[in-house]
Amino acid sequence: MTVKNDSLKTYMNYINGKWIPSRTGEIEASINPANRNEVVGYIQDSVLPDLDEAVKAAADAQVKWKRLAGSVRGDFLYKAAAVLEKRLEEVATAMTKEMGKTFAEAKGETARGVAILRYYAGEGMRSGGDVIPSTDSEALMFTTRVPLGVVGIITPWNFPVAIPLWKMAPAIVYGNTVVIKPASETGVTCAKLMECFEEAGLPPGVVNMVTGSGSVIGKGIAEHPGIQALSFTGSNAVGKSIGLAAFARGAKYQLEMGGKNPVVIAADADLNLAVEATISGGLRSTGQKCTATSRVIVHKDIYEPFKQLLLDRIAQIKVGDGMQEDVWMGPCASERQQNTVLAYISKGIEEGARLLCGGNHPQRSDYPDGYFVEPTVFENVTADMAIAREEIFGPVLALIKAESIEQALQLANDTEFGLSASIFTTNIGAMLKFIQEMDAGLVRINSESAGVELQAPFGGMKQSSSHSREQGRAAIEFFTSIKTVFVKS
Ligand code: NAP
Ligand code: MG
Repeated sequence: MTVKNDSLKTYMNYINGKWIPSRTGEIEASINPANRNEVVGYIQDSVLPDLDEAVKAAADAQVKWKRLAGSVRGDFLYKAAAVLEKRLEEVATAMTKEMGKTFAEAKGETARGVAILRYYAGEGMRSGGDVIPSTDSEALMFTTRVPLGVVGIITPWNFPVAIPLWKMAPAIVYGNTVVIKPASETGVTCAKLMECFEEAGLPPGVVNMVTGSGSVIGKGIAEHPGIQALSFTGSNAVGKSIGLAAFARGAKYQLEMGGKNPVVIAADADLNLAVEATISGGLRSTGQKCTATSRVIVHKDIYEPFKQLLLDRIAQIKVGDGMQEDVWMGPCASERQQNTVLAYISKGIEEGARLLCGGNHPQRSDYPDGYFVEPTVFENVTADMAIAREEIFGPVLALIKAESIEQALQLANDTEFGLSASIFTTNIGAMLKFIQEMDAGLVRINSESAGVELQAPFGGMKQSSSHSREQGRAAIEFFTSIKTVFVKS
């Protein structure tokens, strides 16, 4: 239970087109990780009856919504895009204040959100089926796509605009309605997205938001008999529990989870390009991207110059409050996240890796009171160490020396995850081998591991996903069901 500071805004749940408090009257504060004393706003700490109400609203709304022409549903998304574009700075400010990424990155992500809405608005007019020749020459056989019903969406805090939108936009354009539970760290940002849908005139009940803890509202969504499909992005442990709950009651589900993404630097790589991409891929957003680079596998012939240049550049990184223009890297998103990252750093030292830079909360007295961790680089990292195997989700790079490009590839694949991977090389043979043999959903050549385009399929292999894909046209596979139709006069 939080004692409220009255000058700050309290965000309600958004259910059936109305802003309503949780039945309990309990609220939670959303904290600025760059300044732990700053409350960004309050969100509802909801209970299951609040969720029931949202599911009922979504189910009722779906009856009419699914009957609208796709182009009409798409028009609402175009309108929401225009509203979000108009409110871009406000939404980006909420994002930076709630989870710490720099304002420039937050603005970039919000602009991405606008583009996602526009892309899926267009989906309302694209084809969704095939005509298939029947063995009966007098019959017409074709496939059509139908919505699933009410979709439950559970999202993490690291992309609080892009991820909710790349799930909600396709869900609704294909005729579903939505109940979303955003990460508790970024409930205010999600409430602002709901405001954009409201301002765009989306009919009541088409999107609903219920905030609250993962173990109550998240679990409640996973188990709710009124929710026909679940789209989740977050950690592996939570994802698996959601998948099991969905499977047990026959709901469709999609899980996008963690990564331990490698970059391979071949001996013939463009050194500057490789260093810049390693820093950008590994440390932007404070290493809190699911596609962030965390294992840096470097050919022995280029290892020393690469390491030196990397450390020189990292020494110039300014860490601080992401709202300040000259800051390049913000804090970890929460105290819990900071503690996890610092614990992994201690473990790395314990297991015998050599700390080359960083490793601490910045010690300077002029630092804001936030959850900062310095950019950190380890070397002498072996494949069995925790920092080489487990997702840290922080500004920590593990340098691993490879004897050959073959060994580098083998090390890159030596992980239970398979989200993204990149290689820096000028050798076409090495590129092709990497494309063929790297087990990852996203393979990038001479480009950082963290890069996703909204019009292309996105998702992981191995433990990184439930093997479904989202974004681009792949979204139709999850958010619709195929109906095969046979017609004879
Ligand atoms: P998380 O702890 O798994 O939380 C994700 C969401 O699940 C939050 O909304 C959370 O609610 C909710 N949740 C927590 N416990 C739950 C439960 N028992 N049942 C149902 N829902 C529950 O993950 P996170 O720390 O927010 O995000 C970081 C993780 O996301 C990393 O592992 C990262 O790799 C992954 N990620 C993956 C992708 C991808 O596309 N592959 C993209 C971004 C992030 P609360 O916030 O209220 O706890
Ligand atoms: Mg916060």
